[in-house]
Amino acid sequence: MEVAQPRRVVVATGNAHKVTELRNILAPWLNGIELVSGGEFEVPEPVEDGTTFAQNALIKARAYARATGLPAIADDSGLCVDILGGAPGIFSARWSGAHGNDAANRHLLLAQLADVPLANRGAHFHCAAALVTPQGREEVREGDMPGTLLTAERGSGGFGYDPIFAPVGSSRSNAELSPEEKDAICHRGKAFAQLAPVIMQVLLEQH
Ligand code: IMP
Repeated sequence: MEVAQPRRVVVATGNAHKVTELRNILAPWLNGIELVSGGEFEVPEPVEDGTTFAQNALIKARAYARATGLPAIADDSGLCVDILGGAPGIFSARWSGAHGNDAANRHLLLAQLADVPLANRGAHFHCAAALVTPQGREEVREGDMPGTLLTAERGSGGFGYDPIFAPVGSSRSNAELSPEEKDAICHRGKAFAQLAPVIMQVLLEQH
């Protein structure tokens, strides 16, 4: 008797927080799909030397698809400030120099925009979500969360630039929203909501 294999997709990161977040975001769509953590495989972290969010997401997904033989999903995201021509952009995680120093990144950005009035502080978060199969199929879907860069930090939730960003139509910063409120409008949710049907289609085609 043939035993049905769960359909497996690897999340191209060893970051447990990111895996949990994507499991939550994709749960409503990916019925019967097992999202495997990239941390279960020994995949050297690829150099993210792309010039766009989409290129960097594809670099990560390609590395995991090649190494694991499974379809791989990855995302790359960041904050784009209008008056800075879209910076920090792909450099969001290391804007102040040290990779992943969220507090230093926020302080530098607030200092850079110290004299800019609220009317000129438009910004958006952007996310590129990528799917790469071992057979070489590549798909990218993208999502934005538009808003305004605040003049001081507010709230204690979220991560990264959340305390200095208020989404359009909200008087609260991202760090003052509940996780559910943020997930419902955020760039990652929008990008993966578009990628989810593509993931399902690819997996159905493989069986
Ligand atoms: P990653 O590509 O998702 O790891 O994100 C890169 C960087 O962008 C993070 O280190 C954060 O500084 C910033 N970022 C991305 N998404 C968000 C968000 O939803 N809130 C706050 N900061 C974010």
